[in-house]
Amino acid sequence: MTSHVTFIGAGNMASAIFGGMIESGYPREAITATARSGERLETLEQQYGLNTTTDNQAAIAQADVVLLAVKPQVMREVCAELRDAVQARKPLILSVAAGLDAATLEDWLGGDLALIRCMPNTPSLVGAGASGLFANDRVDETQRELATRLLEAVGLVEWVEDEALLEAVTAISGSGPAYFFLVFEAMIEAGQQLGLSEESARRLALQTGYGAACMARKSDLTPAELKRNVMSPGGTTEQAIESLEQAGLRQAFSEAMTACARRAREMA
Ligand code: NAD
Repeated sequence: MTSHVTFIGAGNMASAIFGGMIESGYPREAITATARSGERLETLEQQYGLNTTTDNQAAIAQADVVLLAVKPQVMREVCAELRDAVQARKPLILSVAAGLDAATLEDWLGGDLALIRCMPNTPSLVGAGASGLFANDRVDETQRELATRLLEAVGLVEWVEDEALLEAVTAISGSGPAYFFLVFEAMIEAGQQLGLSEESARRLALQTGYGAACMARKSDLTPAELKRNVMSPGGTTEQAIESLEQAGLRQAFSEAMTACARRAREMA
């Protein structure tokens, strides 16, 4: 039987996930979404054909999974509102909220709950996300498989067995899209300095990033081996890579990601 999934909060991240679920064949009648405004509910009904309500408690009445997708700053208040309904039904709780740990969320919802914490990233909004997932010890194998299926609707899923590793996930994939945007920005600027128009430099840089990622994902070779394969001795690529290494790119990434993970720990 299809599990009924209720989304509490139907903003950007929630609509990316239920949009992906519907696209990959998940029955829309098994999805409920709540929002605060009637206007948003109308859009959800028209665009996605979902069950909708502004009543968070009623939305849980038939839920097997409750996916918490409100902003972290309103989560405590929302959990207090859901607490009785959640305790009466004991659905699997799945949270995508940044910086709120599993024990805190479980506590806010009254305790004794199977709960999965997920760290998605913004490319989920275009179906190319990467999510890190952590399950507390009440989550069973069937619930893990279900969570994998739901999050795979917007991209790749990677489980971690230690919740602290979600800080590393934040450093690599959570914040990672911005690192690539910065690299693109730098390549476009440099391309313009070499005489290309901004439009040409942008098209070439983005396609190159996309192509390199596709190639690295398809290949059995490591990124280091792929890099060596395009570096003929004395050639152009070797010049560029040596220059990047000398400029301390590796160290810069190490420091940036360490700082990011530290900040994730402080915010939790
Ligand atoms: P958003 O503002 O687009 O969506 C939040 C939605 O919750 C809004 O539609 C709002 O109306 C609704 N809401 C607020 N209070 C509510 C209540 N009491 N009951 C029901 N609905 C309520 O935010 P978002 O970007 O989708 O982020 C949602 C969660 O996803 C956050 O916790 C965030 O940390 C997490 N997240 C988002 C991204 C991202 O790329 N957008 C990445 C990682 C994690």
